[in-house]
Formats: sequence, C-alpha cells, structure tokens
Amino acid sequence: MHPQQYYFTLPKFKNPPILSLPQAWFPGVQEYWEGCTSKRLYDPFFGINTIVIHATAGHGSAGAVSVMRDKKASFHWLIPDENEKEHCNLIWACVPESRVAWHVRNDKFHPDVNDGKNKINHSSLSIELVNSQKDDPFSNWQIQMTADIVRYCWAKYPNMKYVVSHAKLDPGRRSDPGANFPWNEFKDRVLEDNFDGLIAYDAQIDRFKAVRAGLESTIELPTIKGHICY
Ligand SMILES: [Zn+2]
Repeated sequence: MHPQQYYFTLPKFKNPPILSLPQAWFPGVQEYWEGCTSKRLYDPFFGINTIVIHATAGHGSAGAVSVMRDKKASFHWLIPDENEKEHCNLIWACVPESRVAWHVRNDKFHPDVNDGKNKINHSSLSIELVNSQKDDPFSNWQIQMTADIVRYCWAKYPNMKYVVSHAKLDPGRRSDPGANFPWNEFKDRVLEDNFDGLIAYDAQIDRFKAVRAGLESTIELPTIKGHICY
C-alpha cells in the first residue's frame, strides 16, 4: 500500500471508552506556542474531525521539536524512536489540543477528507512519529501509541472521523509516514472491537458534554512515570 492511500474513517457513535495517554509536555515546549500555533477557526471541540499521521525524517525528538522553536511547523504529539529513553515510557505532548498546530500546508486538501475543504490544520489534530525513513521499522510500541492517540481522540471528540497520512494530503511534497508504516495493522488496532459497541445516544451526548466542560482545564498534564512496553 502506498502512503498516499493511507486513510480510513471512524464509525460514528462507536467511540471507544475514554482512555488516558502516557504523555508529558516536551520540556520547555510551552515557550514555542506563541510562534508556531494559531487560534482555531472552528469550535475546538465540535470542529475537530481529522487526525493526520506524520513521520520525521531522521531526527530524534529534540530535532523534531526544533522546528517549533524555529517557528516553521508544529504538531500535537510526538512519539519517540527506539533509541530514545522515553520509548516504551511516554509520548510527548507538544501543542495543546485546543490550538492549531502547523502540520499541513493551508492550500492542501483531499476530496475524501472533510468534504475537500482546505486549511485542514484548523479541523485536525496531528501525530508525529520519530523515524529515520531509511530502513527504520516502526516499533510495535510506536504503532500502539499511534493507535491509542487516535482512540483517545475518537473517544473525546464527537465529530472525529478522518484518519489520514500527510502523504495523501500533500502527495507532491510528502510521503510520510512512509512505506514502512504498517497502515493496515494500525487501522485494525484503532478499530479493534474491544469496546462496548454502540453506546446509547443520550449517554454518549452526556459524556461529550462532560468532556467538553473539562477540556479547557486539561492544559496541565500529569507527570507520567509508568513503564509500558509492547
Ligand atoms: Zn508530515
């Protein structure tokens, strides 16, 4: 499968149970937000419907975050590579979910995603995987964390629907997350039917209201000290 074909949708009202992510802010990243994030054009809860999967090309987590410091680009989550001490321990939160990260160019779009609208950053969240893109397989943990972030977003945002590669949105410039990313396995882990199935509509709406009420207060992340390895 070519990275430009990486895409699937999440069935509505099948949202999995809310899960917490083993995440912490990348050290010092808050200082960069002013220079590399924007206010959302849409409601930061109901207006989010897309998650874009990216991979770096060769730099470690610090190298990836340097693009934020340089005001060139940004992303919501960063998943460390095998040679980093955080691998199997935690993922880095880099931009608050309520803010726009700069991860897809504003003029890019695809008919399959959000009715072909551009300015995808305003309606999306973004995952960056650290990977050299040169014979560097993604680890099982990296795939599981990517799937867990998508499930976390799907549980939290009532209109979350499109899961797509950067390559599909910008095929002329980008091929990430690359041919080594096991898209079908990732998709199966996201859609794995190990949750309650269809939750009663009213219960689902109540849950979304509660999540929304707490959204603005989630900017402080807990410090994670767990050790999970896949
Ligand atoms: Zn990308």
